Amino acid sequence: MGAVAEYFDNIKNTVTTIFEGMAVTASHFMRKPYTVQYPDRIPVRVQDTLPYRYRGILNVDLEICTGCLACERACPIDCIVIACEKDQKTKILTISQFDIDIIKCMYCGLCSEPCPTGAIHHTSEFEGADFSTESMIRRFVTDPIDAYKPKKGPETDERIAPILNRGMRYVNEFAPPGEAWNGGVVEDGAAPPGADDEEGAAAKQ
Ligand code: SF4
Ligand code: SF4
Repeated sequence: MGAVAEYFDNIKNTVTTIFEGMAVTASHFMRKPYTVQYPDRIPVRVQDTLPYRYRGILNVDLEICTGCLACERACPIDCIVIACEKDQKTKILTISQFDIDIIKCMYCGLCSEPCPTGAIHHTSEFEGADFSTESMIRRFVTDPIDAYKPKKGPETDERIAPILNRGMRYVNEFAPPGEAWNGGVVEDGAAPPGADDEEGAAAKQ
């Protein structure tokens, strides 16, 4: 190919490729978008559209925490730090610290699976950004609190019962099939299986 022919061929290729590229760009003006404007231009919060088993940022209902330390032991990367003290006279177990480092957390769910009451559970919250790493450690205990002692029968405390129901639903839905799994059906006020296991807490003292 001569130099002149090559020159004009280059011009033709340049014009052609510009139009090809612009055609792809222009086609997006006609297409229905597959993306949504996040976070403020959708009819419902994304968090409210997530399934119940979504593993978002962890939360702890201290009202139903037995202080058994199963979650702390299950975490493979030591995100959870719990401090419990047992009064040798009254035998009351007190939780004085319950921290979760959500920076380290990898949302594996291993801590929530063995929890007998569903006290520690994943939420649908995923927006955890903050300005300091210190603020990413969630400290659930502000004042020392007595550990929950499961009743022999249904929970009778009107304040605790709904929290325990929520927890037991969570336990049932996360329980491995063949063990406590019952299809997610929660029996109102049912005593949590193995909830009176204080071995872990005792072992730590
Ligand atoms: S979800 Fe996994 S990494 Fe996060 S605290 Fe629980 S066990 Fe640890
Ligand atoms: S009751 Fe649940 S949240 Fe409380 S220490 Fe035991 S496993 Fe952790």
